[in-house]
Amino acid sequence: MTNPFDLTGRVAVVTGANTGIGQAIALALAAAGADVACVGRTPAEETVAKARQLGRRAEIVSADLSTIEPVQGVVDETVEKLGGLDILVNNAGIIRRADAVDFTEEDWDAVVDTNLKSVFFLSQAAGRHMIGQGKGRIINIASMLTFQGGIRVPSYTASKSGIGGLTKLLANEWAAKGISVNAIAPGYIATNNTAALQADEARNRSIMERIPAGRWGDPADLGGAAVFLASDAAAYVNGHILAVDGGWLAR
Ligand code: NAP
Repeated sequence: MTNPFDLTGRVAVVTGANTGIGQAIALALAAAGADVACVGRTPAEETVAKARQLGRRAEIVSADLSTIEPVQGVVDETVEKLGGLDILVNNAGIIRRADAVDFTEEDWDAVVDTNLKSVFFLSQAAGRHMIGQGKGRIINIASMLTFQGGIRVPSYTASKSGIGGLTKLLANEWAAKGISVNAIAPGYIATNNTAALQADEARNRSIMERIPAGRWGDPADLGGAAVFLASDAAAYVNGHILAVDGGWLAR
């Protein structure tokens, strides 16, 4: 019987693949058989080296996704270097923290442009390619703040809530064209993005107390969900936001 989770021969684009969740997802997809284009502003040399050690083709694609200027180039360079584009993981993202009364326009625009605007326009560029071939997978990285309000992160909450809606809209428009669009909502994962929370003793304790699994997530905890949503096993899963949160939302 063929393995429905096998990604052999598929080409995946992962944004923000040099570190954290993006690196872990890129390597999980590679371990499942996919070749990977590692997109970002910091060259993902370690990720590419590890993917090649797994026997996959892997390439660095340089792009600063704070604007939409590079999005078509990401698709073109991936197709040119790896011969196709089957899976897009929109992972690159930033966060800015300040009280709502003090929050600046710069902190609003920087986060929304990277986390939401570039995600849409990169999905559009990749979607045009995928629609042309009649199949494809897009996986957006959402957040607990796709469902909850959070605190001191207004532009991040707006962007990740927007990702939830955008995931469903794209699923609605593209499911019948063979493109599955879904999202993964990570819980509290130990990465650069959450370094400030991990370092804040009081916040760290209150977060830990609420996680039924009793620990912060590791980036590798996201790998299985990404492989599933990228694979044939998820052929009839559309517009879903899959929480990988150690039970946080169940509390
Ligand atoms: P991270 O370690 O800070 O990684 C963020 C990634 O995004 C890095 O590769 C970063 O590249 C890239 N990036 C940021 N701005 C970029 C830009 N303008 N152009 C290209 N790449 C850019 O954080 P992470 O926790 O792995 O975050 C990955 C995703 O998961 C984000 O969307 C985040 O919101 C989401 N998330 C994280 C958690 C968590 O608990 N950690 C929870 C929910 C959702 P550089 O290294 O060059 O900055």
